[in-house]
Amino acid sequence: MGRKFLIVGGVAGGASTAARLRRLSEDDQVIMFERGPHVSFSNCCLPYHLSGTVEDSDSLVLMEPEKFLKQYRIEARVNNEVVFIDRENKEVVVRNVVTGEEYNESYDKLILSPGARPIVPPIPGIEDVNIFSIRNVVDIDKLNKFVKSIETKNVTVIGGGFIGVEAAENLKEAGYNVTLIEAMPQIMKPFDYDMVQILHKELHDHGVNLIVGDKVKAFEPNTVILESGKKVDAQAVVMAIGVVPETELAQEAGLELGETGAIKTDQNYRTNDKDIYAVGDAIEVYHALTNSMTKLPLAGPAQKQARAVADHIHGKVISNTGFIGSSVIKVFDYNGASTGLNEGLIKALNLNIKYDVVKVIPGDKVGLMPECEQVHFKLIYEVPTGRVLGAQAIGKGNVDKRVDIIATAIKFGATVEHLRDLELCYAPPFGTAKDVVNFAGYVASNLLHDAFRQVRETEVRSLLESGACIIDVREKDEYEQSHIIGAMNLPLSEIRDRLDEIPRDQPIYLHCRSGQRSYNAVLALQNLGFENVYNVSGGFLGLSFYEYFNDQTTDREMIITDYNFE
Ligand SMILES: Cc1cc2nc3c(=O)[nH]c(=O)nc-3n(C[C@H](O)[C@H](O)[C@H](O)COP(=O)(O)OP(=O)(O)OC[C@H]3O[C@@H](n4cnc5c(N)ncnc54)[C@H](O)[C@@H]3O)c2cc1C
Repeated sequence: MGRKFLIVGGVAGGASTAARLRRLSEDDQVIMFERGPHVSFSNCCLPYHLSGTVEDSDSLVLMEPEKFLKQYRIEARVNNEVVFIDRENKEVVVRNVVTGEEYNESYDKLILSPGARPIVPPIPGIEDVNIFSIRNVVDIDKLNKFVKSIETKNVTVIGGGFIGVEAAENLKEAGYNVTLIEAMPQIMKPFDYDMVQILHKELHDHGVNLIVGDKVKAFEPNTVILESGKKVDAQAVVMAIGVVPETELAQEAGLELGETGAIKTDQNYRTNDKDIYAVGDAIEVYHALTNSMTKLPLAGPAQKQARAVADHIHGKVISNTGFIGSSVIKVFDYNGASTGLNEGLIKALNLNIKYDVVKVIPGDKVGLMPECEQVHFKLIYEVPTGRVLGAQAIGKGNVDKRVDIIATAIKFGATVEHLRDLELCYAPPFGTAKDVVNFAGYVASNLLHDAFRQVRETEVRSLLESGACIIDVREKDEYEQSHIIGAMNLPLSEIRDRLDEIPRDQPIYLHCRSGQRSYNAVLALQNLGFENVYNVSGGFLGLSFYEYFNDQTTDREMIITDYNFE
């Protein structure tokens, strides 16, 4: 005699649990309740409907209930909302949201995957604007149809997380006048402030009116009012400031919430009721690097948890090693990927971790290849152990491969020396013989073993203000094209013959285009008796990207004569 499994929520976590439960047994009854009209749709592709990349909104739905039934013998009941859990009698109360009719359904095991809903705070005047949020196919259809009908084409997106940025990008691609407002000084928290300047630049250069560090205070008809007093004309407003786990059903049933406010589960994703599991955006998970509980609203973790739950129900031992948070995004021509810890998170959580940072900008392929693109790569590792803690990569080419390597390395407890020695596949159209990841491993090992010292490009502005000696070791023509105001030009090819021009009584900071030639110059000077020499990591290229957006959008003075992004 089979068992009866009920699942609340029919998308990422819910549908994956159902499918895995079926794969593990043909005897059991599996019923999936979804209060919306669709199950198993691609949440992640929703923003791409706005630009027409995904032309037909129907194609966002990956599987219809009929197919679930025919192929998997899974009953997918759409427009059916579970409104109450009666734990004592092991039953749920379900409401048909179309007819209003209610009925009971019993269970042997209940799995909750209700997800998280967009936060829409009660900002004064919110009823005066056309507000949208993006969670499902109905939402994106509604937004898409509405923006197509407006005259001014002025759309404002509030919130610079994944959904906000993707919505802004796709609306811009579709020809709207897009403003993206973020209350914090930067968008996209998986990236540190220094790295994210590349994405700020990309949005700015593509004509998105990106406003950071300014909060929405109120709305007036077709207008967003910011705390700075700025007013933004908006016929449509997309609210994307984050999501909050759907915990009401669980809470009402007396299921415990954790410290983050999401549903608490044990290592097998079981709630405090042994017959009720929970997965996905609604739960909190263990972060394997911060050693604390966190909310991680991403599709990959939801699906892995779903599989684990089905396995556990079928008596398999599951191993829960926690999560480290790996993600990737496309922003116009750039791709950005990140994994593990970043400096922002370490500081925000006040983690007691001693770390150092390597930043390199190599090509993602051999330079002779026509599709070679720079990869801005940042590696974070623990000092003194060298344990890899996190990485971020941004570039027009292949960044996810590099960050996926780091995600794998972190899972297996690798150190920077392991990265240095990794044997990765290579041919010119794919990478370089010494891959970006190896390269970062070399630099990190050198730093760890005190072969040289560095400052970051983020420090150059304050170094200049304090009158520091900065030496540009690029060739003369490169220097003449653009340079740091006040930097001395002493090309690597001449530096050994012009040592008397270098002061010995103060620290000197060497930079080139991306940090490699200046690293050679630093070693040469160290070997020639100079003791206080630093390499500027990221070089002029990193500095150009770092300075650009704030230069363009504030009235501060530039510290370089011009940018060089090549
Ligand atoms: C626009 C967008 C883009 C995204 N892009 C990415 C991406 O690129 N990469 C990535 O990793 N993640 C992405 N995500 C996040 C990812 O989609 C979620 O992490 C994942 O879907 C979570 O799965 P889930 O099952 O917990 O919740 P969901 O997939 O949201 O499913 C929950 C479902 O449960 C239903 N439900 C809730 N309560 C009840 C109830 N009481 N009765 C019946 N049904 C109920 C809801 O209607 C909802 O459809 C994106 C999300 C959105 C919205």
